[in-house]
Amino acid sequence: MQHSKSFLGQHKRPFLIAGPCSAETEGQVISIAKDLAKQGIDLFRAGIWKPRTRPGMFEGVGSEGLRWLREVKEETGLKVTVEVANAHHVYEALKFGVDVLWIGARTTVNPFSVQEIADALRGANVPVMVKNPINPDLELWLGAVERLERVGIKQIAAIHRGFSSAAKTRYRNIPLWEVAIEFMRRRPDIFMIGDNSHICGNRHMLQEVAQEHMDLNFDGLITEVHCNPDEAWSDAKQQITPDVYKQLIDSLVIREEIDAGKFDTIEALRVRIDEIDQEVLNLLGRRMGLAQDIGRYKKRNNISILQPERWNEILQAAVEKGRMRNLSDEFVIQLLSAVHQESIRHQTQIMNAVEEKVTV
Ligand code: PEP
Ligand code: MN
Repeated sequence: MQHSKSFLGQHKRPFLIAGPCSAETEGQVISIAKDLAKQGIDLFRAGIWKPRTRPGMFEGVGSEGLRWLREVKEETGLKVTVEVANAHHVYEALKFGVDVLWIGARTTVNPFSVQEIADALRGANVPVMVKNPINPDLELWLGAVERLERVGIKQIAAIHRGFSSAAKTRYRNIPLWEVAIEFMRRRPDIFMIGDNSHICGNRHMLQEVAQEHMDLNFDGLITEVHCNPDEAWSDAKQQITPDVYKQLIDSLVIREEIDAGKFDTIEALRVRIDEIDQEVLNLLGRRMGLAQDIGRYKKRNNISILQPERWNEILQAAVEKGRMRNLSDEFVIQLLSAVHQESIRHQTQIMNAVEEKVTV
């Protein structure tokens, strides 16, 4: 499908990146790459230096693996990408002709490391992908992109790989769609890729999470593929075979980005939605005017702002009414709480207004 944004000269959506979590042996790398090349992927991934949580785990084969990736390029014509976490990695990867670099989640978190990588890249015309930091700090993620832009890197992609959490969830790293969506709103020019493998941490959710990324208009996917996943030296549980990968990609439903002229109905619906949003804001403005009147009354009669019982009644009634309109309890509670908070703010202003205090 033709796509307005491009990365590596490709206007295709989804842009497909696949390959093993780690390069393990020459044979393993070449055989996976050959299978994936037949499927027409756009970029081959393999970790050479692996950030491991505990020492003593497999930490990657190091620079030797870069020779295998060079062979992948020669034998299959695929472009290749590796993770870099310091200046030494950058120099090594560029020396061996790696086409695209990526910055991992544990590195994006540290501005010193990102700056070291950016400095090592000054003057190099190589595309870079930036994973989100492990904590949901959008500014850090955007900041990493800016550090690269400042040294002249032109082609940059962002990767949503989910976020660490102390809570036990069904994900290995929780997808925080609102963070990724806000990234896309602030930087609509940046190519956005979903890492379904590191979000899921297991095989059975990969398809569902890949589809979710596509439905949110992500540009591509990065997925871990291994010829013998159960025997993989890292991230065995989340890797899939090239055949399963093919099924996953074939099953994706890719919906088009809206072309306003072409979708009159959508345009008409959007106009009505904008009108309703406008009405909601007008009503909220009027509601806050009443809150101010109440604030004046409470002030004159020395009544406290917060009336817990009244608030509870409002909330209960709203939840009931919301249910009849197919609005979730959670949504109604969040919405009403925000409105209530704003109402309290208006009343507090009235109660504590300096000029009124003088007249008391
Ligand atoms: C990886 O892609 O293999 C990896 C280590 O990812 P992340 O930085 O997202 O944990
Ligand atoms: Mn991995």
